[in-house]
Amino acid sequence: MRQIEHFIGGEFTAGSSGRRFEKRSPLDNRVITSIAEGGKAEVDAAVAAARAALDGDWGRLTTDARVTMLHAVADEISRRFDDFVDAEMADTGQPAHVMEHVFIPRGAANFKIFADVVKNVPNESFRMDTSDGRGALNYGIRVPKGVIGVISPWNAPFLLMTWKVGPALACGNTVVVKPSEETPNTAALLGEVMDAVGVPAGVYNVVNGFGPDSAGAFITSHPGVDAITFTGETRTGTAIMKAAAEGTRDVSFEMGGKNAGIVFADCDFDAAVAGIFRSAFLNTGQVCLGTERVYVERPIFERFVEALRNKAEGVRFGPPRDQGADYGPLISREHQQKVLAYYAKAVAEGATVVTGGGVPDMPAGLADGNWVQPTIWTGLPETATVVREEIFGPCCHVRPFDSEDEVVRLANDTDYGLATTVWTSNLQRAHRMAERIDVGITWINSWFLRDLRTAFGGAKQSGIGREGGVHSLEFYTELRNVCVKL
Ligand code: NAD
Repeated sequence: MRQIEHFIGGEFTAGSSGRRFEKRSPLDNRVITSIAEGGKAEVDAAVAAARAALDGDWGRLTTDARVTMLHAVADEISRRFDDFVDAEMADTGQPAHVMEHVFIPRGAANFKIFADVVKNVPNESFRMDTSDGRGALNYGIRVPKGVIGVISPWNAPFLLMTWKVGPALACGNTVVVKPSEETPNTAALLGEVMDAVGVPAGVYNVVNGFGPDSAGAFITSHPGVDAITFTGETRTGTAIMKAAAEGTRDVSFEMGGKNAGIVFADCDFDAAVAGIFRSAFLNTGQVCLGTERVYVERPIFERFVEALRNKAEGVRFGPPRDQGADYGPLISREHQQKVLAYYAKAVAEGATVVTGGGVPDMPAGLADGNWVQPTIWTGLPETATVVREEIFGPCCHVRPFDSEDEVVRLANDTDYGLATTVWTSNLQRAHRMAERIDVGITWINSWFLRDLRTAFGGAKQSGIGREGGVHSLEFYTELRNVCVKL
């Protein structure tokens, strides 16, 4: 059984409380990891270590030295690539190829990209006139915000955690991270990497535990934490925002979605089917940017649903190293039960189940895992629970539409505003849709194509603020103005 400790002030420690909790494998629900559970004492120690590093070696490093060190972090992650893949697979049960091609390389890239942004982005400068004719020069300097609290989720644990830790450190801050209780492995491994490349003790700290009345709540309410960056459910974001109000600390939130996929009859049919399929089912539907509402223009509706059904029925489930497996299980028994409850609710509210709706037959040894079938519904009104609430499972509702105005209204009729994917060969319509759908990111004829230099975040209840490229600098630094009378 793996043992995961906190990483505080450059040391792995079980903490003073001695409390631990267990993590079960998504594949079969065997206990596979024992994790130290942090409380107030561990959070206090981590925040103190982070503050000391800020005031010490880390705070004194030149930008060049910091950038070089973060490149070394990325290189060391690449050197230990297999360890990261194994750790993430153990936690999530998702296929090795997803870890190898997306989640782990993107995690390493998060350190290089933001280091380079910090090095290359100029600051503003304004020359102003004064009454004596000599003028003044204003220029901006960016300073780190301080100790950043990082609260991350379980669905792409390493990628989403480093998406915050990378820019936070690149900007000269220190961090106290609370990974999801479901996925503590890669955050601990990153501690080993930091140590190996000589990142000063206290720059990167990890306290494991849960949310309310546990490490998460203690970090977000700690007066020594200067800003909080969070990815997770909107409901959790509301609780964290209340905690951050004490001391008026800054927040950056990336939260839930109920994203619409929109397919016009003039699309490249096969590409649209493949794109919508991937957006609904990748990572067993556990992607915040995933599509749970699909709107298809009426002339191709029947054909589209049929093609989607064929693909869903061809899906193979299996453990991560099974080369033929498309998908793994859901993260936990609790999440499986939640998704299956939505499946039952859809039927109770009158859905036509096109395919799925239950648990697949799995071979002995895997039968106790958190498997669920990819599920497609039609025939529900927009008021149905599964059309309104984020399920975070491999499922979608498909509905026909007749006009652009109608589909814009349908797509925007949600409290969320994270992402959309639009499939059309009409360029003018594509641009119009991008302006009319209230979301942070619109994909045209694509999905999940991410350039890390671009702004990322949600509208409405899907988020607060933007991260990515220079936008991350805005959150992770304080921009000061200096005015020099000439
Ligand atoms: P979650 O909100 O349950 O948990 C996220 C993290 O918050 C965990 O580390 C958890 O322990 C912690 N937490 C919970 N309650 C807390 C509290 N009161 N105070 C402090 N910390 C607390 O989310 P999850 O189930 O881990 O992740 C799935 C959710 O994340 C989905 O809603 C998904 O859409 C969202 N998500 C959004 C994005 C995005 O970029 N917008 C990306 C990935 C996931």
